[in-house]
Amino acid sequence: MSQLILSAVDLARDRILAAQDYLWTHPETGYREWNTQKYLAERYEGLGYRLVYAENVPGFMTEIDTGRPGPRVLVFGEMDSLICTTHPDADPVTGAVHACGHSAQSAALLGLAAALKEPGVLDGMSGKILLCAVPAEELIELGWRETLRQNGTIKYFGGKTEFLSRGYFDDVDLAFMFHSGGAAHTFHCNAGSNGCVLKNITYEGVASHAGGSPENGINALYAANLGLTAINALRETFRDSEHIRVHPIITYGGTAVNAIPNKVALESYVRGATLECINRENKKVNRALAASAAAIGANVVLSDRPGYTPLANDPTLVEIAARAMRMLVPEENVTTGTGWSTGCTDMGDISAVMPAIHPYAGGVSGRGHGEDYRVADPESACVDSAKCQALLLEMLLKDDAAEAKRVLANAKPRYPSIRAYFDEIDRITMDKKAVVYNEDGSVTLP
Ligand SMILES: [Zn+2]
Ligand SMILES: [Zn+2]
Repeated sequence: MSQLILSAVDLARDRILAAQDYLWTHPETGYREWNTQKYLAERYEGLGYRLVYAENVPGFMTEIDTGRPGPRVLVFGEMDSLICTTHPDADPVTGAVHACGHSAQSAALLGLAAALKEPGVLDGMSGKILLCAVPAEELIELGWRETLRQNGTIKYFGGKTEFLSRGYFDDVDLAFMFHSGGAAHTFHCNAGSNGCVLKNITYEGVASHAGGSPENGINALYAANLGLTAINALRETFRDSEHIRVHPIITYGGTAVNAIPNKVALESYVRGATLECINRENKKVNRALAASAAAIGANVVLSDRPGYTPLANDPTLVEIAARAMRMLVPEENVTTGTGWSTGCTDMGDISAVMPAIHPYAGGVSGRGHGEDYRVADPESACVDSAKCQALLLEMLLKDDAAEAKRVLANAKPRYPSIRAYFDEIDRITMDKKAVVYNEDGSVTLP
């Protein structure tokens, strides 16, 4: 039976590689993937799929019914690119480039969709398969996404989080996706990865002539510098086991060189291995930012938003996926269940409410998010990835979906419901002018 599904993916090989070529050369960042959606949707519809669109943002889903009752399995392909203006293949206008390899994911998912349409492939399976072309995994262009949030287009910055909040996955039992990563003909799956809080930080000072009357100004750039230094002084208090990462950038540093800067803007994440430690360390970071403003009579507006929840790869799903991986590459090329990634993904949000995995299919080279990143071996990164996903689906859903049911019986999602999950992360949202100057000359910090 597995030979039939592997042959079905082989029949889709040209379609997969053509999609990787096209998507690599037409990159679009998160919530802007309209052309990517058009390309993919035409091909899904050409295969006979009926698509349900998110409509006000890019993204669509389709459902495949095996005709027999059973669990509902969701498979993602991410559509969005990064921005890396110095990458030789970057779009000359937008700087967009698939430096995280999401083009390969979307190509593989299209191949999976084609394979599932081949005669006989679904015969031994039970349950339903949902395929989702999902937008906006990379947490970038935060200012623009905040605009989308404020005008009501989205509630959350990550595409999977947004779709989860819209109820698109309410009836889903388990989920997986295969990201690109590592050398050709390898597969790996960590135990999990960090989550994060997103931060917009705006220091406010008082502008004044930088030469003539600096004594009348309050320098927002100096306050921001103190803030960055204070964060650096906190680093040795971060516990190694919690994988805390804080990496601010200055996005606005002053207007006119002959005026004391009265506004300086920063963005940052605070990443960590659990929501508890992220919230704890984020409070320390906010205190450091505020105290630095207070030190020179400035102020700072702190805006925190939910980022992504730490990813917990479901152990039973990992074990089954490893069997599929070992059918495609030598045993020593498969690594699962160990290691921790300090990056973040909105697959973490999915894993918070249902069993889910986010393994990596090899075939890329260079530094992830860097200017030398390439999908060096599309046969491995796209075609083998599609084969592994097809095998995993078959293993989960054959024999009356026995393995999928075993995953569900063993699963311990962190939150009892999608609602409980959103109740928790919504508490992260905060907008606050942090320093209160009291009448008696004292200051109050958050
Ligand atoms: Zn990435
Ligand atoms: Zn990625």
